[in-house]
Amino acid sequence: MSLSKPNASAGIATKKGSISLNNKELNSFEMAQSQIDTAAEMLNLAPGTHTILREPMKELHVSIPVRLDNGKIKIFKGFRVQYNNARGPCKGGIRFHPDETIDTIKALAAWMTWKCAVVDIPFGGSKGGVICNPKEMSSSEVERLSRGYIDAVWEFIGPDRDIPAPDVYTNPQVMAWMMDEYSKLKGCISPGVITGKPIALGGSLGRGDATARGALYTIVEAARHLNIDLAEATVAVEGYGNAGSNIAILRNDIPGARIVAVSDSKGGIYSKQGLDPHKVLEHKMETSSVINFPQAENISNSDLLELGVDILCPAALGNTITQANASKIRAKIVAELSNGPTTPQADEILYDNGVFVIPDFLCNAGGVTVSYFEWVQNTYNYYWEEEEIHQKLNKKMSKAFHNVLAESLKRKVNMRVAAYLVAVSRVVEAMKWRGWV
Ligand code: GLU
Repeated sequence: MSLSKPNASAGIATKKGSISLNNKELNSFEMAQSQIDTAAEMLNLAPGTHTILREPMKELHVSIPVRLDNGKIKIFKGFRVQYNNARGPCKGGIRFHPDETIDTIKALAAWMTWKCAVVDIPFGGSKGGVICNPKEMSSSEVERLSRGYIDAVWEFIGPDRDIPAPDVYTNPQVMAWMMDEYSKLKGCISPGVITGKPIALGGSLGRGDATARGALYTIVEAARHLNIDLAEATVAVEGYGNAGSNIAILRNDIPGARIVAVSDSKGGIYSKQGLDPHKVLEHKMETSSVINFPQAENISNSDLLELGVDILCPAALGNTITQANASKIRAKIVAELSNGPTTPQADEILYDNGVFVIPDFLCNAGGVTVSYFEWVQNTYNYYWEEEEIHQKLNKKMSKAFHNVLAESLKRKVNMRVAAYLVAVSRVVEAMKWRGWV
């Protein structure tokens, strides 16, 4: 375990418990550490405990040689970070992205630790990534890269050690190749090593839209708390990948609700009457973007974020709500489906302006919660009906939402700080029982 002295004075906790650092926006890992500093201060954690929580337990850097279709070998850089396993085996997705960095992976591994703790599933947190652009690779190159990643990390992971899953630009097919490669290396079928698999290989029913469905359950609870009638609500969704398109589809299934705007990396679309999310998805499949959708007006991504809607769902990559645009956010609820969409400074502005934020590691915990159900089913080799998954997910998400809300009301802090207090306390309790601190 690498322990560096915490620089707790780096982040200044304000009365609302968010962080400002000489007006500088922080990189993802600095942001994650600042959030831990705030929680440590509010929970009066002993310096040793705080120090452990500020750094990952283990960090693996690998080089993955992959034969490209043109016959040449290319070396890809990959990472796996295990942040903390006090509560159970580490859990977290694998990202394939050209802008991947070790700091992003470390931050995401920390957030996985809090995410699993806040929904009270018996896992620690981890994350993996490879610097690559799968959009420019053939399917067989992606397969060779996926297998190569497992060849490089297989001794570091395992059903009782660290269980990967899909994340940005990885999907059930990638999980299937990875499970197959791991099983070959181990000499036995090992479905529990990875989640988010295809159903035919031990995947769970309900995993596909679990992140969005889990978020929807928290939105329903938030709307109830704020007396917002969801049947009349307008919704904007930033990002139209797995989480974004599924939240649009699920949300529109509630009679009366209207998805008025959605976007992707190329831009956004707006329709006052509401969009048909299934048709938007078809359009995106055909044209590779949501823009230029018939009967909708093209808008920019920043226009979308600033629309006067009831619910705004950031569901793209991180850092979309910053100090620069936070004061222009007019939504009543910001439901963070993506990881790290709001910077600490933006958080403070949103809180001052009365915007109710459902923080990322609570809002988007539905994916890992159903991953946990998948791992349990793999362990038992007995599989549940989809309805049972939905019920169990609803129970977990609603309970977690109300635990966090109660903490936020009791301590008069924003929902993100409250979620940290709930999650960090649980991790620290496990660390104490294990005799680490
Ligand atoms: N990648 C997803 C997340 O960030 C899911 C992780 C998992 O299922 O383990 O929550």
